[in-house]
Amino acid sequence: MNVPEDETTRQWWDETRARRLTVQRCGSCGHLQHYPRPVCLSCGGQALSLVPVAGTGVVETFTVVRRTAYEDLPAPYVVAVVALTEGPRLLTNVTPLDAVAIGRAVRVDWRPLDDGRNLPVFVIVAMEE
Ligand SMILES: [Zn+2]
Repeated sequence: MNVPEDETTRQWWDETRARRLTVQRCGSCGHLQHYPRPVCLSCGGQALSLVPVAGTGVVETFTVVRRTAYEDLPAPYVVAVVALTEGPRLLTNVTPLDAVAIGRAVRVDWRPLDDGRNLPVFVIVAMEE
């Protein structure tokens, strides 16, 4: 799978090599954001650094893709917005498909990429009995 990175996202991707999920934190106002950007969305500050997050969250919304567009991503699969416990949201994949629902708790899992980076995806956390 070809997943591009650039100057703004390189450090974030490097953290995924050690399977560390991070978000940007603004040094001026404390705002947390994802994906990595050159400026803070809250105050416009540029003193941004990466901080680790727990890798837990909930499914905020999702859709099921039923047509295969990429050979290494066979349909059907879920594209979801996951709201991290710390607040920022990620557009990501959630499994298993038949357990996905809005509000379900998820935790991060990692899908290895060919170059040593890892793609964060999420799995449904089993409901307490
Ligand atoms: Zn800020």
